[in-house]
Amino acid sequence: MKRIITIVGARPQFVKAATLSREFSVAGIDEKIIHTGQHFDANMSEVFFTEMEIPQPAYRLDINGVGHGAMTGRMLEGIEKILLGEKPEGVLVYGDTNSTLAGALAAAKLHIPVLHVEAGLRSFNMHMPEEINRILTDRISSVLFCPTDAALKNLAAEGFVNTAGNDPGSDRQKSGLNGAIPVRIVKNGDVMQDAALFYARKAAGKATVVKQLPVSRFVLATVHRQENTDDPSNLKGIVEGLNAIHRQVPLVLPLHPRTRNILQQSGLTPDFITIDPVGYFDMIGLLQQCEMVVTDSGGVQKEAFFFQKHCITLREQTEWVELTELGFNQLAGSDPVAIGEAFKKLMNQQSDFSVNLYGNGEAARKAAELIATL
Ligand code: UDP
Repeated sequence: MKRIITIVGARPQFVKAATLSREFSVAGIDEKIIHTGQHFDANMSEVFFTEMEIPQPAYRLDINGVGHGAMTGRMLEGIEKILLGEKPEGVLVYGDTNSTLAGALAAAKLHIPVLHVEAGLRSFNMHMPEEINRILTDRISSVLFCPTDAALKNLAAEGFVNTAGNDPGSDRQKSGLNGAIPVRIVKNGDVMQDAALFYARKAAGKATVVKQLPVSRFVLATVHRQENTDDPSNLKGIVEGLNAIHRQVPLVLPLHPRTRNILQQSGLTPDFITIDPVGYFDMIGLLQQCEMVVTDSGGVQKEAFFFQKHCITLREQTEWVELTELGFNQLAGSDPVAIGEAFKKLMNQQSDFSVNLYGNGEAARKAAELIATL
């Protein structure tokens, strides 16, 4: 493939796309980006394009501020129109957002091969919109780029069979034979590790937020999952848990716009330090300097590991099971007691973070090289 369209829309996708866009120019692949507009605040979108030198989107759909159905539907319509005009050889989607699903659906129905990066991950919680998005996207993709062994196992358990064929379009047409789902499956590693390694060098000296904090020792937290923000008892438990950590070590939380809005209406009183969402360079600075990470983000769980920090995950499940299995990460849900216990345990734990779980920074290059051969 020499001409592809990439669909992005949400913050984690900008981080992932940055790594592949760079490799596409090396591999001689012409990439055009569609930005669906899911995230649009300057500090949730533009800052990533600028700092990470992501090519400016060729198309902007500006779809946001509506529910899941309307958002996915409008994106589907907008993306389909562009694909009909552009006729790309493949459509690249990342992760598990509404933009991912809309991009995959639009392409698959036009018989354009879908390339899914960060495929095969499962939380096994069908109440998460992300789980629905990733299962459906995998099912209609032609090439699944998997970051981990766990992702490969999940796909095998669902009946996906790796064809390793060179014609992804026809692989997909054969789907359903004997109950197996033939698809090209590639374990290329995790593109977010590529981003962390590459941009940590670039961010050196450019992270300013960490220097302006009123504290020198701190725990870094992020909270934005719908199952936490939209459930009052989960949010209350999390705020209590974070307040309790803050009484021991100051806790700093860059506030996702959704969480900010809901917290304002909730009557809850965070005692910890909240700041505006930060750009990627500042996030790297915070990850490097913090004592521990507490998060419900998928990406930040891994970044804690990349920057050699323990992590408490404010969820009941994680897709990044290797981190919990090896003790780098502990699940605590939204229960303040469990959050407190995890904090105590991890603060006293020494870990060797040198194990290679995510491919050590070659994931994007491997994916781009393969795409060039398709
Ligand atoms: N991130 C950031 N600034 C912030 C919070 C997060 O740059 O204030 C980055 C974070 O380092 C990671 C990405 O955004 O690379 C993760 O996005 P998010 O947590 O929104 O999504 P998820 O990974 O849960 O899908």
